[in-house]
Amino acid sequence: MKVGIFQNYIDGKWVDAVSGATNLIHNPCDGEAVTQVACSDKEDVDLAVAAARRAFEEEDWAFNPRLRASVLQKWANLMRENFDRICTCLSLESGKPLQEARIECNNAIGYMEYAVASARTLYGSTSTVSKNRLSVMTREPVGVVVGIEPWNYPITLMVRDSIPALAAGNTLVIKPAGQTAGANMEVIRLLVDNVPELPRGVVNAITGPGGKIGAVFSEHPGVDMITFTGGLDTGKDIMERAAKTMKRVSLELGGKSANVVFADCDMDKAVAGCAAAIFSNAGQTCTAGSRLVLEESIAEPFIARLKAVAEGLKLGYCLDPETKMGPVDNEGQMNKILHYIEIGKNCSQLITGGYRYTDNGCDKGFFIAPTIFLNPPVDSPIVQDEIFGPVLVIQTFRTEEEAIQLANCTRYGLCSGLWTQSFDRAMAVSRRLRSGNVWVNNYTGFAPECETGGYKESGLDRAAGVDGFLKYTEIKHINMDFAR
Ligand code: NAD
Repeated sequence: MKVGIFQNYIDGKWVDAVSGATNLIHNPCDGEAVTQVACSDKEDVDLAVAAARRAFEEEDWAFNPRLRASVLQKWANLMRENFDRICTCLSLESGKPLQEARIECNNAIGYMEYAVASARTLYGSTSTVSKNRLSVMTREPVGVVVGIEPWNYPITLMVRDSIPALAAGNTLVIKPAGQTAGANMEVIRLLVDNVPELPRGVVNAITGPGGKIGAVFSEHPGVDMITFTGGLDTGKDIMERAAKTMKRVSLELGGKSANVVFADCDMDKAVAGCAAAIFSNAGQTCTAGSRLVLEESIAEPFIARLKAVAEGLKLGYCLDPETKMGPVDNEGQMNKILHYIEIGKNCSQLITGGYRYTDNGCDKGFFIAPTIFLNPPVDSPIVQDEIFGPVLVIQTFRTEEEAIQLANCTRYGLCSGLWTQSFDRAMAVSRRLRSGNVWVNNYTGFAPECETGGYKESGLDRAAGVDGFLKYTEIKHINMDFAR
């Protein structure tokens, strides 16, 4: 196994699933089995949650911010020291080109280092409520947090979403996505095998099918909070089940984001930005700019240039340095995308792509040629649904008002891109875009210091920044009467 063989990590020990069952993970470029992981069940969930609960109550963690900062700093250092190995594991399991894996792991280190800094900033406040009374508002960790992670950016998102929970003093159970569980476990192994100061039971990780053990976590009375990044339907299922025990939930869900391009844009910059927004990671990005809302007067030259970029992307094996776009994650995902492509062919103009790609040694993998459609009806599934593949839909407009209506026309509200050289227009249109991120003259400008998340059905809560840290805390009001 090129990536490795991993057990679960519970209460300070590597252990098999109670049933002894295992799963294999295959590289989507060629189907090669690269990883073996434990296939967990309810019993394993119970053990992991019990370990995290005990650690929360008994270990020196929840109220020791200096220890937390020091442990997380060591983890970040280990990520740097083992950078190439982690990137290779990620690339082999996800099929993403090594250069994209490097960007992802670098981002993850940035989030880790931000968490280190946050750990020592858990400030509260005080209020003099009367002559002889003082109120202290103190922030405490929520308790046992479960991080349920997706496969598309498994390392960055595990770090972005779960590590702030540790920084705030919670104990953690991580449930990686099945497709990329080995890369996640390799990152967790760096910490748990090399940082002896980490108290037993503070970090636990178990692998297994989300459809089975996910629900067990959501309903588990020993879990205080679920932090989830993944699909909309899964997010709704978690929220419904979590309501039974009033768990805190933080949901980072899908998108159908629009790049709005005005005729006064810098065309070189906008073409490159819009192409990267949809074709990076083979379009399997929650924030993908999967719709291009384009001013009609520049449609012809803009589309010609975009088409040239799409047709110039080299698809191939993930570790080949020439590869610019990898496969999609699995056969089911590929078939779903091909189904949407058929819908697109029936309701709009196909500009390029529109087929499964099998050249250049790609015949055993799940590759889709970069695909662009022009002007499908607004209510068609290729405009409204998250396809999660390299499929771009272009919608043209004539007026600013029409552009805004088109940009906001789906149930999602994760991100928007805006391309114009007019400062006034950038400000005015940004205000009216119903999304948690608006990038002006760039796309995917993320920073660990800055909150990100969705409006509408793209999620609840924010990841990263101060809010992405404080969501892992409760506020306790201690009121002291010192009247004599
Ligand atoms: P998914 O919802 O299928 O799976 C995500 C995780 O949930 C996996 O670990 C899976 O095993 C687990 N899971 C599956 N069913 C579950 C259930 N019933 N209860 C609890 N957990 C369950 O999503 P995915 O296919 O891994 O990821 C793709 C989706 O994630 C896309 O919709 C994408 O837009 C979204 N996403 C959002 C963000 C963001 O920050 N907003 C980031 C990345 C991905």
